[in-house]
Amino acid sequence: MLLFLFSNAKLARLTIKQRPAEEEYPDITQHNNYMAKYLTLDMYKRLRQRCTPNGFTIDNVIQTGVDNPGHPFIKTVGCVAGDEETYEVFKDLLDPVIQDRHGGYKPTDKHKTDLNPSNLKGGDDLDANYVLSSRVRTGRSIRGFCLPPHCSRGERRAVENLSVDALGALTGDLKGKYYALKNMSEAEQQQLIDDHFLFDKPVSPLLLASGMARDWPDARGIWHNDNKTFLVWVNEEDHLRVISMQKGGNMKEVFTRFCTGLSKIEELFKNKGHAFMWNEHLGYVLTCPSNLGTGLRAGVHVKLPNLSKYRQFEEILKRLRLQKRGTGGVDTAAVGGVFDISNADRLGFSEVELMQMVVDGVKLLIEMEKRLEKGQAIEDLMPAQK
Ligand code: ADP
Ligand code: MG
Repeated sequence: MLLFLFSNAKLARLTIKQRPAEEEYPDITQHNNYMAKYLTLDMYKRLRQRCTPNGFTIDNVIQTGVDNPGHPFIKTVGCVAGDEETYEVFKDLLDPVIQDRHGGYKPTDKHKTDLNPSNLKGGDDLDANYVLSSRVRTGRSIRGFCLPPHCSRGERRAVENLSVDALGALTGDLKGKYYALKNMSEAEQQQLIDDHFLFDKPVSPLLLASGMARDWPDARGIWHNDNKTFLVWVNEEDHLRVISMQKGGNMKEVFTRFCTGLSKIEELFKNKGHAFMWNEHLGYVLTCPSNLGTGLRAGVHVKLPNLSKYRQFEEILKRLRLQKRGTGGVDTAAVGGVFDISNADRLGFSEVELMQMVVDGVKLLIEMEKRLEKGQAIEDLMPAQK
């Protein structure tokens, strides 16, 4: 089925009148993103002759990276997918971007999935004096619909209707309700954002330039169970973002609920005739190439006031394959020594392997923090590169 789609996709040709590629090629000389690193004029010339069966072009793929040069120290991805076929039709650009962004993951590599929580060792005892909350999220795309940068209003609404319908069948602890953004007051939205449950307003220039914020807030919303430990974002950056979270440091419980909920959701969508976008090479197919594979970001909000001032803090995180953010989400700074610490990788490792890195890594960070608190040295705890 996929192969058939792709061979058709490859045949798709743009028929609109074009000016010469030299005149259209963007000025990306000052840009610090992966797209700009690989998009040569020759490649652009070739790729602009193509489009996906849904009409997504190379200019659509790269627009967000053209409009957002990035920062000398923060390298962004600089491109997005508009549909499942984007990764195949524009592989000349996307393969090297993926390889570079995902630590050498080659076009011939195969991705592995492991959503069995009993394979995770430990993780139920992260010290709650340090870990304020634990969270695991991923994205899922519904096959047959364009992705948020390219979907039409009708498609987006269809994704919303389908999701509300499917999620409505969840029972027990997972039973919940859908709250459409357009039916929420400003104050209700802000409260959910402040409590870390809801995505931010579409203020990020990356989101805006990629086309993902079109028609906001139409067909966007959040579904959650009564105690807000299992949540699904609808039509933000991905069709679905599935989240499990709770206060304290029991990552095992969070991951277990995540796996159970996710497999139930997958089954509910399948029953309605809709599979998630997935293939052996890329794993779960998502909007941003940086999220391919597992789409998994497992993290804790953790107090590290001493360790974060330690001169090798960045190096320690790098060796543990972890990343840091502020607790207000991506692009926010840490306040009062509390960080969002999560796995840095998405592709090439299974969900359980990434969880294990977070659980083991965070344990070590807390041990280091406790030593520094008492004025003790931590050199002997320095980890090797994972
Ligand atoms: P995502 O990778 O899910 O897009 P963001 O960095 O955009 O993550 O953050 C989304 C929201 O999730 C923010 O409100 C953030 O504070 C919240 N969040 C992320 N990790 C945690 C955590 N471990 N505990 C509580 N809230 C979290
Ligand atoms: Mg986000």
